[in-house]
Amino acid sequence: MYVPPFSTPHMATKTKASKKKKGLPSGVTKKSYIDYTSSARLRSIFAALDKLFPRATCALRHENPFQLLVATILSAQCTDERVNKVTPELFRKFPAPQDLASTRQEVLEVEIRSTGFFRNKSKNIIGAAKTIMSDFGGRVPQTMEEILTLPGVARKTANVVLGTAYGLSTGVVVDTHVFRIAHRLKLSRQNTPEKVEQDLMEIVPRDRWISFSHQIIWFGRKICNARKPLCAECPIESICDAPDKTI
Ligand code: SF4
Repeated sequence: MYVPPFSTPHMATKTKASKKKKGLPSGVTKKSYIDYTSSARLRSIFAALDKLFPRATCALRHENPFQLLVATILSAQCTDERVNKVTPELFRKFPAPQDLASTRQEVLEVEIRSTGFFRNKSKNIIGAAKTIMSDFGGRVPQTMEEILTLPGVARKTANVVLGTAYGLSTGVVVDTHVFRIAHRLKLSRQNTPEKVEQDLMEIVPRDRWISFSHQIIWFGRKICNARKPLCAECPIESICDAPDKTI
């Protein structure tokens, strides 16, 4: 059974602590607060994320790097929950790259229709499977340069697969949650995922890139939601001055 990798006792109900006015965390001065990327402020953010999501990992079900690659391609513009409903049957029918490489696009489209953008996704998945078979001996490549040659794979997907499946710190995953929260926390003011990633790679220590990506994604799902962030329950509310805060 999948167990969400977070511990948020204060999330179920508003606690007394969440209603109390919070001061700045120790080590964070008014001056360093204004410097949004000060080491003191970053340490506070990392500590809060570690406490909230100590075992954060990818929510996409998979048993090997190829399955994670396919699931990540399917997750574009789609929830991980929806993808996890589709992939068990998909991977039962097409367990390996050679199975998908020899599949007709119309056949795959039927299997993945409910994830949206199914024509493009089918084309990319079959193209990626073919390239893996022809250029990489049937294995998902393990370098950024090589994995980016697969159809449908940009840096976000590459970082998910290389980080989660191979444990390689190649960058920070910038999906819709990470992009939004990087802006709310003023860790980046850039307007493309690629540029936001570069900013985050500058300020997040490399040995945190993988865990930070997963933690921020869970933080975006559970607390710092797009439409109505749960600021009253947020442990870094005192160092956040996002314009769309709800308190
Ligand atoms: S205070 Fe609100 S907007 Fe700021 S990080 Fe927390 S949940 Fe997000």
